[in-house]
Amino acid sequence: MRFPVLLCLLFPLAAPAQTFEAMPAPSPQDVTMTVTQDSLPAWIAAFRDRALAAGISAASFDAGMAGRRIRADVLDRDRNQAEFVRTVWAYLDRAVSAERVAAGRMALARTGAAFDRIEAAYGVDRSVLAAIWGLESDYGAVKGDIPVLDALVTLAADTRRGAYFEGELIAALTILQHGDASPARMTGSWAGAMGHTQFMPSTYLRFAVDFDQDGRRDLWGADPRDALASTAAYLAHWGWTRGQPVAVEVRLPPGFDLLLADVKVVRSVADWRALGLAPVAGDLPGGPESWVLLPAGARGPAFLAYPNFRVIERYNPADAYVLAVSQLARQILGGAAVQAAWPRDLRALTYDERVALQRGLTAAGFPTGGADGRIGPKTVAALRAWQLARSLPPDGFPTPDLLARLGR
Ligand code: CA
Repeated sequence: MRFPVLLCLLFPLAAPAQTFEAMPAPSPQDVTMTVTQDSLPAWIAAFRDRALAAGISAASFDAGMAGRRIRADVLDRDRNQAEFVRTVWAYLDRAVSAERVAAGRMALARTGAAFDRIEAAYGVDRSVLAAIWGLESDYGAVKGDIPVLDALVTLAADTRRGAYFEGELIAALTILQHGDASPARMTGSWAGAMGHTQFMPSTYLRFAVDFDQDGRRDLWGADPRDALASTAAYLAHWGWTRGQPVAVEVRLPPGFDLLLADVKVVRSVADWRALGLAPVAGDLPGGPESWVLLPAGARGPAFLAYPNFRVIERYNPADAYVLAVSQLARQILGGAAVQAAWPRDLRALTYDERVALQRGLTAAGFPTGGADGRIGPKTVAALRAWQLARSLPPDGFPTPDLLARLGR
């Protein structure tokens, strides 16, 4: 389960989260459709052999694939991802709204007894589980009503990431075969993420638990216990450290070397303190590994990220998502909102602008390793090097102004 890694967020709330493992990000040009509703039966007939070879029984296959259809809305959502980009602050405004914080406190109170047992069983803090629950489904209110098998058939039969989604489709059929859910009950988001905390089918197979011991691993029903415990199992597997933060907002000292704000520059919290970093509110817990994150560049808030940041990245690798989990969890517990101002005069670059930035940097002698519109580590490194060469603050954060300067 892994979503394409982009600097900015690509999805609306309650969209597919988690881990679209090794799923290449789509690009808007890459739009060819090979399967239509009319040709779907032929695709399903060919897929049948592959599914049966993967262990799906003929009966399960036929029950699961009866009446499947290609969904245009799913294809639209998939293809518009790369254009649909928001700034981190616009995302956080919605993701960590006052309403969602208040609803999170109520959800925590309502589900307290279950959280006691889940925390004891998995060692994962309830605040972070509640935050993921809030982000993924508004605490169970918006779990997605698209038949997951239709969504996965549509994406598996499409040309671009068919292999990935075919694997998820086989996982979904395996869930049916185990008797955990019926095709009608198995609903979710457009990309196949299911239930209270939006598990992809393959993640379900690996990590879902029957916490309430009623004989089914149920992520869809009104009772969230299985879903929350499954999420805890997932985070525990990836190394969650109980009681440790995900990220803490910090104040950088004057003259801080921006090149140190890099996920590859990992130091102890004590080392950062010695350099002059201080929390803007509350504690800055100690720890051997932490790094400085500037999600909106040098003009925006600064954070010290802890190893739990990487654990939440397993759910969804976008910085904005991880920060939203961190902030929502803190605020549900009564902690402060982000204190420093976001650079709200800036806007997100469009896909075409991101490609232009990469081409411009490469042409200027700062290669980005391609021009795919994704602002990954190579593009950030190239941008920093170009900024240094122009005596600009080397924060590696792409802005319309930098793009304009690059063209001059
Ligand atoms: Ca159950």
